[in-house]
Amino acid sequence: MHTIALVGNPNSGKTTLFNALTGSNQHVGNWPGVTVEKKEGKFKWKGNQYNVVDLPGTYSLGAYSEDEVVARDYIIKGNPDLVINVVDATNIERNLYLTTQLIEMGTKVIIALNMMDEAKQKNIDIDIDRLSKKLGAPIIPTIASKNKGLDNLIEESINYFSKDNNSNISFSYGENVDEEIKSIESILANSTLEYPTRWVAIKLLEGDQDIYNQLGKIKESSQIIERISSLGEKAEEYELEIVDRRYAFINNVLKDSVKQPTETAETITDKIDKIITHKYLGLPIFAIIMFAVFQLTFAIGGDIFGGYVATFVEYAGELVVGFLNNIGVSEWLVSFISEGLFGGVATVFEFIPLIMVLYFFLGILEDTGYMARAAYIMDNLMRALGLHGKTFISMIVGFGCNVPGIMATRTLDNKKDRMIALLINPFMSCGARLPIYLVFIAAFFPDHGGIVLFSLYTLGIVVALVLGKIFSKTLFKGESSHFIMELPPYRLPIFKYVIRDMWDKVWDFLYRAGTIIFVVVSLLWILSVLPLGVEPYSQESILGRIGTFLSPIFIPAGFGTWQATVSLFAGIAAKEAVVAILGMVYAGVSEGSQLVSALQNVFTPLTAISFMVMTLLYTPCAAVIGTVKKETNSTKWAIFMAIYPFVIGWIASVLIYQIGSLLGF
Ligand code: GDP
Ligand code: MG
Repeated sequence: MHTIALVGNPNSGKTTLFNALTGSNQHVGNWPGVTVEKKEGKFKWKGNQYNVVDLPGTYSLGAYSEDEVVARDYIIKGNPDLVINVVDATNIERNLYLTTQLIEMGTKVIIALNMMDEAKQKNIDIDIDRLSKKLGAPIIPTIASKNKGLDNLIEESINYFSKDNNSNISFSYGENVDEEIKSIESILANSTLEYPTRWVAIKLLEGDQDIYNQLGKIKESSQIIERISSLGEKAEEYELEIVDRRYAFINNVLKDSVKQPTETAETITDKIDKIITHKYLGLPIFAIIMFAVFQLTFAIGGDIFGGYVATFVEYAGELVVGFLNNIGVSEWLVSFISEGLFGGVATVFEFIPLIMVLYFFLGILEDTGYMARAAYIMDNLMRALGLHGKTFISMIVGFGCNVPGIMATRTLDNKKDRMIALLINPFMSCGARLPIYLVFIAAFFPDHGGIVLFSLYTLGIVVALVLGKIFSKTLFKGESSHFIMELPPYRLPIFKYVIRDMWDKVWDFLYRAGTIIFVVVSLLWILSVLPLGVEPYSQESILGRIGTFLSPIFIPAGFGTWQATVSLFAGIAAKEAVVAILGMVYAGVSEGSQLVSALQNVFTPLTAISFMVMTLLYTPCAAVIGTVKKETNSTKWAIFMAIYPFVIGWIASVLIYQIGSLLGF
């Protein structure tokens, strides 16, 4: 089966194209750094199947960050039959830098000249035939978001498989460099290296660290290193020459094939940005927008839909339990279903409407391009704290789930920046923590849901930034690398995608409820009814005893009950389990009692806050810890990630409870 790889700058429309081709629904976002792993899919055309691979967006094929290495390794070692280079037509000059590198690699390239609608709007005039001749690659204009030009693109790609000419452009870096490349090539001629020799030679002259490391494997390595170090001062000169020649090539290509209006009028995007990214107004506007989102979430999700779902869940529970009692199922099974499943797992379901609404709004903010502005606004603050601007992008991704948030840190080029971004990500309040806040808000702050949620999310951000600053001063010293955030134009969100992303998150939530949370609740249910003979869910049960043993830890924080304790520890498996376990030990449909009223009896508004802050900050879930281990390749950091947030959460909740008590709350 033939394989096509999609390569292009961030935000050029690769994922949109990938989804349109394969009918899958990978996450599309109007900002850079959304896809950090390659995604594979298939499509059928005229009876044949083809593979498509969506690679992370990169500006170049150097080895500056992990996503660049992922992309170029795939192009070379994955042996795709064809590379479709997605080029943003409104930004040709910058996009072609990557294109020239693909041509250099000798890859078989077709260019999808995307965003033709926007280019037209901006009066950018492109002579496609001429451009194509100069680049030595076919160019197909497309509008991926409207499915335009895709048939052509596929047709042309398939024709291209059988042609054996790669780009027929020969690239010159000037006499001296060309000669040097040739002599390095001749040393490499019989080597076992998997890369094209010419490309390796160029990369070596560019000082590419990754390629240097790969050299270790071959016998010619010492000869090459000798050769390059003999260049002495000329090495730097050559490096600059290579980059210069690439730009010169691009300029030459663009010269008579692309006409851009010189005096670009101020676009709508520029006008909006003047206000939204304003030095002083930007941050307050960001805060107001987020606050409005939380308010709307409660107004729509809570008041309009929420009630129905809760009533439905309760009704369904009574119906099932009534039915089981009628047909005379054994008592323990009825108890498991009414308390374990409906008291626990189903309790979590009641919050789905709110979660849907919240993610709907966050999706719109992301797709319009606002979230990219949020990161831009935060950039100054981040830099003042010694953090890299891209950190905030991974933090916003973490609002959905910390696992992709941590993966998004791959776009950070240097190790120091990346480690800090990774370590502070779990303080971003993920979707799984929402049900906890929502149930406590329902119990204690029903009229102030928006402000409570807003405060919790903000607290998460503040704690993350403070710790980031501390880490950058202690654990990871060294310079932060420079970052210029590129702002995508504002775009109308494509509702299909917003809704699909929202469903993805809800589905993920349901899936976890049906798997991990189900397992956790089942196990803890068994512990809560054993040993036989004791009152189920009482302090004498095994679960009660474990909780009682551990609960003194939380006495200074005001919620040292065995129930709260076991729910927190269960939450380390998955955060939704906190509410599920509270539901199981406090409520259950058979008593007809509701978790909300049960909580009102054991918590106070102050201990509710202290508990919510603990759940915001303490140990992230097992999936996150696993991701940290995978991404850092270190058990040490995984253990650190399990412990230090617990300590931070504990200190914060103790402070809240102790100070609050002193003040008489
Ligand atoms: P990627 O980073 O390259 O994967 O880019 P995405 O596929 O995530 O797209 C970035 C943004 O551009 C999204 O908001 C898309 O909806 C939008 N987009 C993609 N293709 C087009 C296009 O041809 N025209 C316009 N106007 N927008 C597009
Ligand atoms: Mg993408």
